[in-house]
Amino acid sequence: MTSIDTGHFRNALLEERQRVEHALATLRAEHPGSLDDEVDETSPTTDNNLAETATATLGREIDYTLGDNAEQVLSEIDEALQRVEDGTYGICVNCGEAIPRERLEANPWASLCIDCKRKAEGG
Ligand SMILES: [Zn+2]
Repeated sequence: MTSIDTGHFRNALLEERQRVEHALATLRAEHPGSLDDEVDETSPTTDNNLAETATATLGREIDYTLGDNAEQVLSEIDEALQRVEDGTYGICVNCGEAIPRERLEANPWASLCIDCKRKAEGG
């Protein structure tokens, strides 16, 4: 039974959580309501307008991705913090094996060991 320094990882998780929350807040402050906008497809478009619309759409898709990813990471961090509280931190939620410390250092909110992660990704 390896004992994991959960205090160290708890701090790392809390720090990362703050950083992600800040990034999300910044993202939302910079694009208030923009995620709900719909492109009006009935309006007449010239080639010039079309190019502008394409650029705007592309930018919005990138924001979507960033936002989704940040929220995903945030929930994974919260789950990891919960596992710290439960005393199950550092244990693969799938197979129950200990997750290598190097993996936790690189990714403190990892919930799967490397083998299970690979299987989950279908690789
Ligand atoms: Zn596993």
